Amino acid sequence: MAWAYVWAMLAWALIPGVKRCGKLFVPVIFVLGILPDSDLLLGSFGIVHRTVTHSFLFWILLFIPVFVVFRLKAIPYFVAVIQHFAFGDFFMGKAMVFWPFSPKFVGLGFGMPSLVDVALETVGLLLAVAILIYVGDLKRLFSVNKQNVFMVLPLLALLISAVFFGLHWSSINSLITYIMSNDLLVVLALGHIVLFVLFAISALQGLRALKPKIK
Ligand SMILES: [Zn+2]
Repeated sequence: MAWAYVWAMLAWALIPGVKRCGKLFVPVIFVLGILPDSDLLLGSFGIVHRTVTHSFLFWILLFIPVFVVFRLKAIPYFVAVIQHFAFGDFFMGKAMVFWPFSPKFVGLGFGMPSLVDVALETVGLLLAVAILIYVGDLKRLFSVNKQNVFMVLPLLALLISAVFFGLHWSSINSLITYIMSNDLLVVLALGHIVLFVLFAISALQGLRALKPKIK
């Protein structure tokens, strides 16, 4: 999710003409960053993790109407979703990026947690926070503004992924024991907490803006 924002901002800043289309709608960028992993919840429909929703063709087809309507403005959003498997999963795992043309799982497969994984995730989070501050997005996300209600979406996505991961353990205690057994997992958990707090504050500020003002 952090890298989605970093890559989307790079696309926004560097691809000619995109910046002129206006600022990015950050909640959607964060959600797109994790959206390919919705396949984890679709197992009962026969969808295997890191296959269809981790392929270029799937997202190109889904984005055709988006590009038709929004043109250049859609590029950073497309980048946010593509980088999930073309960058993140490429390093950490293997994904069927060329489905349906090739059944090959492509990637370096460093695995999670590994030093490469934790280093990349940490760098991504730090870069994301730095850019959020630099371009003023953090100030906007922390302001009492109705638009921030949409931060409930990445907050929910993060929560669902955490619960999905946590369900593999019989109790919270055994999960915490597992995390504490490995420094890399502790760093990953801390990164998730930082992102969670950021999303939660923003979503709360959005909800505050919704509250009807009493005269
Ligand atoms: Zn994935």
